[in-house]
Amino acid sequence: MFFVSTRGEERVTGAQAIVQGIAGDGGLFVPEVFPAVTETEIEAMLGMDYPERAAFVLGKYLDEYDGAELLAALRAAYARFEESDPAPLVRVENGTYMLELFHGPTCAFKDMALTVLPYLLRKGCDILGVKEKILVLAATSGDTGKAALEGFKDAAGVKVMTFYPEEGVSKMQKLQMCTTEGGNVNVVAVRGNFDDCQTGVKRIFASAEYKKALAERGYLLSSANSINFGRLAPQIAYYFSAYCDLISSDQIKYGDKVDFAVPTGNFGNILAAYYAKRMGLPVGKLVCASNRNNVLTDFCTKGTYDSKRPFFRTMSPSMDILVSSNLERLIFELSGRNAALTADRMRALAEKGKYDVTQEELNLIRESFYAGFTSEDQTVECIYEFFTEYGYPMDTHTGVAMNVAQNYLESLKDVPNAEERPMVVVSTASPYKFPQDVLYALTGNDVKDSFKGIKRINLLTAMKVPESLKAIRYKPLRFKQVTAPAKMFDEVLKFINE
Ligand SMILES: *Cc1c(COP(=O)(O)O)cnc(C)c1O
Repeated sequence: MFFVSTRGEERVTGAQAIVQGIAGDGGLFVPEVFPAVTETEIEAMLGMDYPERAAFVLGKYLDEYDGAELLAALRAAYARFEESDPAPLVRVENGTYMLELFHGPTCAFKDMALTVLPYLLRKGCDILGVKEKILVLAATSGDTGKAALEGFKDAAGVKVMTFYPEEGVSKMQKLQMCTTEGGNVNVVAVRGNFDDCQTGVKRIFASAEYKKALAERGYLLSSANSINFGRLAPQIAYYFSAYCDLISSDQIKYGDKVDFAVPTGNFGNILAAYYAKRMGLPVGKLVCASNRNNVLTDFCTKGTYDSKRPFFRTMSPSMDILVSSNLERLIFELSGRNAALTADRMRALAEKGKYDVTQEELNLIRESFYAGFTSEDQTVECIYEFFTEYGYPMDTHTGVAMNVAQNYLESLKDVPNAEERPMVVVSTASPYKFPQDVLYALTGNDVKDSFKGIKRINLLTAMKVPESLKAIRYKPLRFKQVTAPAKMFDEVLKFINE
């Protein structure tokens, strides 16, 4: 299987796509074709456990990787989760399904891929005969950073560094990152928002001069962000797994379509669902849910991507994003894989902050996606109502997805003969990861201390507190550096010269 750049002619193998992270022309690597998964194969997947299902899906893309070894790596990765099934599908009383992706070491769905990426990267280097050490960089809106740090900490031949917006992550997210252990990790706050962090990291990737400076010191750059196909691939697997679970529990039969609602920021998670659909999974609508930073809602309804707008800090910080990187992969598909056009649009986005798609492309978007957003008050209300009615506590990101899913289902009431399909809401974080905001939503009470919040939510919901969050309370704060966006590369050099 080969991968091509969304912006040009570059064509590489899976190992190269993962090790490089981003194409030389600034584009993102996408599979040359979508491998098909047949009905017979889905039937075979019914009898598999989660790591086997994931190995099957990943194997379709990464044929250079040894299958047995890949399975062993996935087993080891998911053995670090606190539940035996890393992606359980939970049926709530009203018939909604929650795909819980937050049982990993950092309590957010990023763990589904970032516990696996170190293996994919190391093995990729072996396959390619890369001798350099690897410097993994990540820009984070809160969750990627910690998951990358946990995934890569103390990995041989790798250093990992994350940049987060100084004021743009939750207290708990900051605490998680700044208490990370391991001798090969670094965490730096950036004066700015997530887009500043992401642009800064992309600038480092795009600079021949910076890359040369790193090469002179024996380092090769790679990315832990969802621009890296190695992040995307493990995310495709859980959509297949959820579908299998619905068949196994007699909720659907093969061929029935299922809708997925995804709380969206960088468009990585929902893009994985779209890829699953392109591989043949019977997917109905993909509900693209945003918070007040509703640039994707506007794009999916009007066909203009306009990032020049006020940026809001919300209680779903991992979705506070105005430039969604992975959308580039979708518009590449919508344009009929027109790399020149994709490159033009991305140039327009960088220079003018906006671009348009055609009416035909917009129709294609509407066919696959329903997009909506929620205000902060609506999210709070939704979390409260859902817990009061069904006893199921959601985090603030999942609350956004649930609210938009409900709006979507409501909108179907006006559609004659609308097909009734199961709705799977992708639950991306543990409520304990955002304890102050979740407690506020559940009770109206404000607490200053995150751990007090955790305790109160536990008393109220009786939901088990993740061990990893309990543990950080007593860990020392190791990282306190703050830098300007323009100084990010200086921090990188300082770190690798240590
Ligand atoms: C990263 C994240 C999101 C957004 O996912 P994307 O792949 O960036 O769209 C949503 N919820 C949580 C909890 C996250 O950590």
